[in-house]
Amino acid sequence: TDRTGTMLYLDGVSVAFDGFKALNKLSIIVYPAEMLAIIGPNGAGKTTMMDIITGKTRPDDGEVFFDGRTDLTRLDEAAIANLGIGRKFQKPTVFESQTVWDNLEMALRKPRGIFATLFYTASDTDTARITEILDTVRLLGRKDHLAADLSHGQKQWLEIGMLLAQDPKLLLVDEPVAGMTDSETVETAKLLKEIAKTRSVVVVEHDMSFVRDLGSRVTCLAEGSVLAEGSLDQVSANPVVIERYLGR
Ligand code: ADP
Repeated sequence: TDRTGTMLYLDGVSVAFDGFKALNKLSIIVYPAEMLAIIGPNGAGKTTMMDIITGKTRPDDGEVFFDGRTDLTRLDEAAIANLGIGRKFQKPTVFESQTVWDNLEMALRKPRGIFATLFYTASDTDTARITEILDTVRLLGRKDHLAADLSHGQKQWLEIGMLLAQDPKLLLVDEPVAGMTDSETVETAKLLKEIAKTRSVVVVEHDMSFVRDLGSRVTCLAEGSVLAEGSLDQVSANPVVIERYLGR
């Protein structure tokens, strides 16, 4: 396959832990401004795949390219994050004792280093950018609330906003709707779709009604490789998926 024009390109990635192949010649492509949902049973290798992309785990074999050219397997985690890859872990990690606005402000100045942080005064551009991000993540109306006072779902949105402040080209999101209310889940699908208009988004998810709401291309992993790909309807109609994953 030609990797020109791809945002993320995993080609035949394998990694073993104590002889157990967590990923087995996994190949995944994500295009710019495209969302991909990754589904699959526990132990399929979804987390390991995210760890490979972010440099937390090194592949034993295969290649990982970002933005059509940069070989991620040669870079450490910090360098990969600086290239423009943001990762949202399952649990929210926000600064509870700070306001929503201040959380965003901290996220915005983080990459500029210690001196920028010490002598920081918000510019008009920053204010506009924070306002825009808070609008995207449905928190503009709560900008002066303490993060501690947000619901679980709103904390997840705040953390997504904090990642957006770093202006990632690729956003990796791990089970964002676990523990959310039904209405928060529906809203999360909408906001991720909005984000995916300008950025690539990879969502690992178990909640199939949420995956349906995302309406994105779906890849089903099993035993460390791709079992099926396509729309959710195509994937869930795949006989191998039905037999091995859906269990019907
Ligand atoms: P998923 O996220 O799809 O549930 P994982 O990527 O967490 O799957 O795990 C894939 C397999 O690799 C599992 O069998 C898991 O036990 C194993 N595994 C993952 N990380 C490690 C590790 N650091 N050491 C040993 N085994 C691991």
